[in-house]
Amino acid sequence: MPAKWHQAKITNIIDESPTTKRFIMQLGDEEPVPFIPGQFMVADLPIGEKRLNRWRSYSLADIPNEKNEIEFCIVHLDGGKASEYFFNEVKQGTSLKLKAPDGAFCLPEGPIEKDLVFLCTGTGVAPFRAMIKHIFENDIPHKNIHLIFGTRFQEGILYQEEFEQLAEKHPEFSFDIALSKEEEEHDYFKGYIHQIYLEKYKDVRLDVDFYICGWSQMIDEAVANLLIKLKYEKTQIKYELYG
Ligand SMILES: Cc1cc2nc3c(=O)[nH]c(=O)nc-3n(C[C@H](O)[C@H](O)[C@H](O)COP(=O)(O)OP(=O)(O)OC[C@H]3O[C@@H](n4cnc5c(N)ncnc54)[C@H](O)[C@@H]3O)c2cc1C
Repeated sequence: MPAKWHQAKITNIIDESPTTKRFIMQLGDEEPVPFIPGQFMVADLPIGEKRLNRWRSYSLADIPNEKNEIEFCIVHLDGGKASEYFFNEVKQGTSLKLKAPDGAFCLPEGPIEKDLVFLCTGTGVAPFRAMIKHIFENDIPHKNIHLIFGTRFQEGILYQEEFEQLAEKHPEFSFDIALSKEEEEHDYFKGYIHQIYLEKYKDVRLDVDFYICGWSQMIDEAVANLLIKLKYEKTQIKYELYG
């Protein structure tokens, strides 16, 4: 069956960090478009002739809603074609063509029986923001949820207020941040995210699942650490590779 395409119109653009923006858009469909938190959509952007040069995937950073609004959280990559398009040309009112939601980087259906550890850097947080909102706003029964987020500088922390408020409200939700390049004094972890789970989850347990999202170097290292160094089972690790 041919993929279904949707028209989206940008309704709001939020500066989330000096290099990251949140693009809120409304889908033109009459009925809310269903999707599962963790999925992504492919955008067909006016940045090339051939289909494969024009298509870029973005995780859905919000949950399905009556307003049919979706959100992408996009980092500006110097010289990247889609980055330049989103940061220099897209404005309120711009229309985008998006392929139907897709992907299997999702939580199990129904009650969540294991602890969840979400590992990400930068905009790799996007699918976790959707999953976390889904769990809390839809009252999905769950165990502990630990979000471990890494970025270079303090100014690059994404959705910080939202996650801190959740952590205050829900003792089973914790939010750790690692800053790899920040020179100013700070209270977060210094360095990469790996030190955090390597210490906290060093004693292997079967009642925890790891979800990892971001770019290849971080994912490769995290998967190797969990599988080879700590000896977790393959079935306890899921990842979404951005590139
Ligand atoms: C399933 C999926 C979901 C994705 N979700 C998101 C998302 O929610 N937010 C988001 O910002 N991006 C996301 N991406 C990445 C996105 O699709 C583009 O690759 C990204 O926007 C760069 O496109 P570009 O045209 O600007 O750069 P290009 O010109 O295509 O890329 C240039 C080079 O940089 C590498 N690269 C691309 N992005 C980064 C980066 N941020 N850091 C380091 N290296 C990089 C690429 O691998 C490539 O080698 C996702 C990718 C996939 C496959």
